[in-house]
Amino acid sequence: MSSTANGKNGTWRNWGGTVSARPVRQVAPASVEELAGAVRRAREDGLKVKAVGTGHSFTSIAATDGVLIRPQLLTGIRTIDRASMTVTVEAGTPLKRLNTALAREGLSLTNMGDIVEQTVSGATSTGTHGTGRASGSIAAQIKALELVTADGSVLTCSEKENPEVFAAARVGLGALGVVTAITFAVEPLFLLTAREEPMPFERVLAEFDQLWAENEHFEFYWFPHTGNTNTKRNNRSAGPEQPVGRLAGWFEDEFLSNGVFQVAQWVGRAAPATVPAIARISSRALSARTYTDIPHKVYTSPRRVRFVEMEYAVPRAALVQTLRELKALVDRSGLRVSFPVEVRTAPADDITLSTASGRDSAYIAVHMFRGTPYQAYFTAAERIFTAHEGRPHWGKVHTRDAEYFSRVYPRFGEFTALRDRLDPDRLFQNDYLRRVLGA
Ligand SMILES: Cc1cc2nc3c(=O)[nH]c(=O)nc-3n(C[C@H](O)[C@H](O)[C@H](O)COP(=O)(O)OP(=O)(O)OC[C@H]3O[C@@H](n4cnc5c(N)ncnc54)[C@H](O)[C@@H]3O)c2cc1C
Repeated sequence: MSSTANGKNGTWRNWGGTVSARPVRQVAPASVEELAGAVRRAREDGLKVKAVGTGHSFTSIAATDGVLIRPQLLTGIRTIDRASMTVTVEAGTPLKRLNTALAREGLSLTNMGDIVEQTVSGATSTGTHGTGRASGSIAAQIKALELVTADGSVLTCSEKENPEVFAAARVGLGALGVVTAITFAVEPLFLLTAREEPMPFERVLAEFDQLWAENEHFEFYWFPHTGNTNTKRNNRSAGPEQPVGRLAGWFEDEFLSNGVFQVAQWVGRAAPATVPAIARISSRALSARTYTDIPHKVYTSPRRVRFVEMEYAVPRAALVQTLRELKALVDRSGLRVSFPVEVRTAPADDITLSTASGRDSAYIAVHMFRGTPYQAYFTAAERIFTAHEGRPHWGKVHTRDAEYFSRVYPRFGEFTALRDRLDPDRLFQNDYLRRVLGA
């Protein structure tokens, strides 16, 4: 087993630069046995344990001052089962590696989020999702899980085996054990046609139910201080493949979406009064385009501009009203918001603490460029989201606690009872989990 240190003097930092921690030790186990040994040793030494992915959570959910378990030696595909159409991967496998390996085998996940940097265990543990009418989060595509629990033993679960663990551990927040392998449902590789199109905010809201119903994956970005959005509709296609042209792809994805956007953010941060004008220009810079490609090339793209994010799931039926309130907030306040608001959906799922647990959901994500004060905006937005019984993304900024979650998650007590059973001494505890799950 190798110890690793990250950053200066063994300090661990998240992607957003908003959280840092100084673990007593960091380990990178290369097998399930090594990982179980690391868990047992930590317990003997009276240290807490936290497994980490790639640190893409904005909250301190992955931070620990005890033993930090790093994922980099626990990667790769274990098995592909074409009869049951499943793939089993080591928990530390980055999503990008999974996607490319599956594509090589003529397979794909059904749905995914915006980026592919995260590990499979890190992404699923917080309920990472994309957008979908009928297909849910990455965790909702899990068929079985293997985890090392607090006593150092290996526990496997699925719908049939330890179903009460399976119900909770797919979005486990790292609170129930260290996930060592995940089995996902896969399907034959397919093509998606993406239609990206600017659309007035008022039209998107007026036609939201129809846009959602007519498309397998509908999402949009609203540019605060403007009445403009950019919509994206992804639907399965018989082909032919028509990838984004090399130049158009470079121009839209790299130059406009990352390069120019980065400069606009710098200007906005230095001179907040310019933000509304910049928002008007940026929202008009993107033009309509259509392309057809394999799923991960349509769903995901690089995100090079660093930001801080809060995202809440509200009941889908409450989306339009919630967005109207958010727009009114930006319009009447002195806030200067240079980052678009992202809106996505997910169908109800059966995972205990998934943000879409038992409820058809719409996600509203607010962002601020890194280094820009975000508290006033996020606090005001959070007040709107919580008034609609919103459930925050577990990996994105929020201020909610266990008392709140016990009200918005009907099955909250089920999760905490399982935690009491699997981790009675709170080996996997950290400050974040103490806040959101209770002591
Ligand atoms: C640029 C960017 C884009 C994003 N896009 C999206 C998006 O489109 N949709 C979305 O929903 N979210 C998105 N997110 C949020 C992100 O997907 C989540 O925060 C995700 O949890 C990060 O994965 P990670 O591998 O970095 O895990 P980390 O942030 O390192 O850890 C997250 C949690 O997983 C736990 N964990 C990690 N490994 C294990 C393990 N082996 N066993 C048990 N627990 C484990 C950790 O303890 C922690 O609780 C984005 C974030 C960024 C920075």
